[in-house]
Amino acid sequence: MFNSIVVRFAPSPTGYLHVGGARTAIFNWLFARSTGGKFLLRIEDTDKERSSEEMVRAILDGLKWLGLDWDEPPMRQSNRSARHRAECLRLLESGHAYWCRCSAQEVEERRTQLWDRGVAYRCPELCRNSLSTQAPDENAVLRFKVPEGKTHFNDIVHDAITFENSEIEDFVLLRSDGTPVYNVAVVVDDHDMDITHILRGDDHLSNTPKQIQLYRALGYDVPQFGHLPLILGPDKKRLSKRHGATAIGEYQMRGYLPSALVNYLALLGWSPGGDREIMTLDELIEAFDIRRVLKKSAVFDEEKLRWINGQHIRRLSISELMERLRPYIDGDVPGADNGYLERVVRLMQERMTVLPDLFNEGWFFFKDPESYDEKGVKKHWKPQVPVMVEEILAELEKCDFTAASVE
Ligand SMILES: [Zn+2]
Repeated sequence: MFNSIVVRFAPSPTGYLHVGGARTAIFNWLFARSTGGKFLLRIEDTDKERSSEEMVRAILDGLKWLGLDWDEPPMRQSNRSARHRAECLRLLESGHAYWCRCSAQEVEERRTQLWDRGVAYRCPELCRNSLSTQAPDENAVLRFKVPEGKTHFNDIVHDAITFENSEIEDFVLLRSDGTPVYNVAVVVDDHDMDITHILRGDDHLSNTPKQIQLYRALGYDVPQFGHLPLILGPDKKRLSKRHGATAIGEYQMRGYLPSALVNYLALLGWSPGGDREIMTLDELIEAFDIRRVLKKSAVFDEEKLRWINGQHIRRLSISELMERLRPYIDGDVPGADNGYLERVVRLMQERMTVLPDLFNEGWFFFKDPESYDEKGVKKHWKPQVPVMVEEILAELEKCDFTAASVE
């Protein structure tokens, strides 16, 4: 097995925790917890315009609600730009980077010409081979000098993957305002956090050859990569808001149990083998095997999630279920003193798929009907009916009417 595994989840606080991000976090967390490794967090908050502290809190609360804990205080990427910049300048000094003085228009024209010949963008020799370590002017950007050859790696999920370096452009490391780009920040931070395995969505696959080039040029050990298959909507397109709720908080509000959501998301792209489906966090940790991550994209199926949630509800003890229901009760349920409520919960537990079902499906336990079918009454409520009802009531009173005898 692996020695001292360190993985991370690196959300951007530009939005809430979504289904896709949560699934990535769950896979990393399960991998760490099943191997005795560490699970770390990094807040990728370099986009100051779009990031907010409110979102940082919401994401951390979402992870906590799911039951995922982390081993060290989260790293803040925005605190580290001096370090990222210093590593870029080290690349310049070691000849892996160059100052580009081409105008945006020159780059655009040359990019098209080169691409017609099947080669990704490189600056003209004058720019690319310049040995100057001083930025020529304030519009200059620092570019990475992509070497010749191929970039090859063994992906944990997809096995051997090879990129032709001629298809990777001499990408920008430092923008003209001196800020480092995403790929630099990610590589330097993952190195400094001692990350050994990077499990992330397939959408990052195109960044991976660039990042591997950076690891090598900086003299870092290259971690192992595993790209998780995308989560698709029922129409086989990438899961998005068009398909309905994607924020984890919405599922919490709709009365899903965190254990059910983790269970369901763990099964999106991973299988414990056999036909096991309903699993607690501890059972997932026990069964998790990174080698069983599937290559194929997974389709998000809310009906399946609802079924799994119902199964998790059935497995709670009455007191656990009462506790989970508490936020929905909030004192305004008529006649809901604890004894009565508990009896209703016992009856409804087998029939609930989400927590509010107690009130939506079982409303008649809590309030009298407000209307009745008047036509039906005219048709069936004949003079002899009250007599018959009296007789049935008398019969029922003689019965041993308990759940056990009814069944
Ligand atoms: Zn240039």
